[in-house]
Amino acid sequence: MRFSFIPAVAALIALGSSSIATALPPAAPVQTGSDAPAPKRPTLIVAISVDQFSADLFAEYRQQFTGGFARLMQGAVFPDGYQAHAATETCPGHSVIMTGDFPAHTGIIANNWVDLKTARTDKNVYCVEDETAPGSSSDNYTVSPMHLMVPTLGERMKAADARTRLVSVSGKDRAALMMAGHNPDEIWYWGGKSFVTLPGRTAMPAVVDRANKAIADEIAQAQPVLTLPPVCAAKDRAIDVGGGKTVGTGRFARAAGDGKAFRASPEFDGAVLALAAGLVQDMKLGKGDAPDVLTVSVSATDYVGHAYGTQGTEMCLQLLSLDRDLGDFFKVLDATGVDYVVALTADHGGHDLPERIDQQGFSDAARIDPALDTAVVGPAIAKQLGLTGRLLYGAPQGDIWIDPALSAADHKRVLDAAVKAYAANPQVAAAFTRDQILATPMPKESPERWSLIERARASFYAPRSGDLVVALKPRITPIADPTRGNVATHGSFWDYDRRVPILFWRKGMGGFEQPLPILVADIMPTLAGIVGFKVPADQIDGQCRDIDPGPANSCQ
Ligand code: ZN
Repeated sequence: MRFSFIPAVAALIALGSSSIATALPPAAPVQTGSDAPAPKRPTLIVAISVDQFSADLFAEYRQQFTGGFARLMQGAVFPDGYQAHAATETCPGHSVIMTGDFPAHTGIIANNWVDLKTARTDKNVYCVEDETAPGSSSDNYTVSPMHLMVPTLGERMKAADARTRLVSVSGKDRAALMMAGHNPDEIWYWGGKSFVTLPGRTAMPAVVDRANKAIADEIAQAQPVLTLPPVCAAKDRAIDVGGGKTVGTGRFARAAGDGKAFRASPEFDGAVLALAAGLVQDMKLGKGDAPDVLTVSVSATDYVGHAYGTQGTEMCLQLLSLDRDLGDFFKVLDATGVDYVVALTADHGGHDLPERIDQQGFSDAARIDPALDTAVVGPAIAKQLGLTGRLLYGAPQGDIWIDPALSAADHKRVLDAAVKAYAANPQVAAAFTRDQILATPMPKESPERWSLIERARASFYAPRSGDLVVALKPRITPIADPTRGNVATHGSFWDYDRRVPILFWRKGMGGFEQPLPILVADIMPTLAGIVGFKVPADQIDGQCRDIDPGPANSCQ
């Protein structure tokens, strides 16, 4: 055990090949049955997001889980949850989880958007940036929750009872801020070398300081290769992505000091969970005079998915490690004696790299045609219409903005030409205009039946969204060159990016599995129901789901 100064959670950070459960204190005896009546309501909500944990990965690995996931699978299991909107990215997805709203209402339409009317020269805005702050740029941004347009459950509970504490920890700033909301008591996210907090906040709890020192020491040491468990062996096949690069056989060996490799490895989630556990202990969360809220987003599954794809040894090692670390995290929570309720889901699903999919039965998997870039299409339209300039901005998947300096007549001509140009490309499934999307009612049906334009509608926030929204066809990966950087991604309109597991667990609850689809937006009102907090149903997109398996109703 390398980090003895965080006694109960230290072992969580010391990830990798060692077996760490033995280093933890014994769990509190599990109270079940009538001899040990629990309080009626839990006193701590623990909402966990596993970044890029698709329903497909859950289905693939659930038989192998023996740790934290296995515990949650004894609760209420909804294997077919939906991040139902079109823009299946991290910031929009996290904005849904604790607000109960679609991005159309949270205002978080993407990780980044283009605001051609912003005063500064750099028109790219990051979702958790205050672009009006002096010196803020999309490269060196000032972190702020200002773009989130609705309150989170924690914010609502704090507004109703100021004794409620709201704590958020994540590997990513956008995940931490979107799950916490506007004014959390504590919020800590990875800043590249250590956990950092919002600008203007100076106080650092002792446990954060200890965790940062521990993690710095961890990164400074080289990480040996992880042992490949037998269950991962069949995935051990090198996939050539060109440029002499292969993926699929990685074991997370890491050079001393390589912070980037640390981030895309199981070590990273261990660090986040250790810090979260430490904050629970030090702040005595769940032991105050009102229920507390802890939100945790673990990011390594996403970094691993992007760097190596979803079907290699890398993801196998990552998910098995995360399962073990979640189990140890829950043991720390058990030892506090607090009656806590857990909800676990994901901000979006994911997709494997086309080079491997192509070898596994889908020859239509492909990388994006660079000709779809707005920097290519826009100038071509300018030439065709006798205009000048770039005209179109944004990524070719999702929102595209037209230069607002154009006259209304030219705007219309450019929009028509852009719709035509995108629709004509064989990699494009649909191109919708702003007017078409806004004329579409917000979908109310079960999410597996939503049309493409309904998915776009749930992502569309008129003050920010584009003049045009493009849906690529299934299995088109919008990364043209995999030889450097990421090989795989998410963000599409398709179910592999929309479907995520939703798991609820509380000590002593009866379990069930319900295969019918529910929304990630349902998590917030469901948790509110469990702790007995009223959220007016007409204020949010989600609905409370009764997770009591019998005639009792957890929504009442
Ligand atoms: Zn994500």
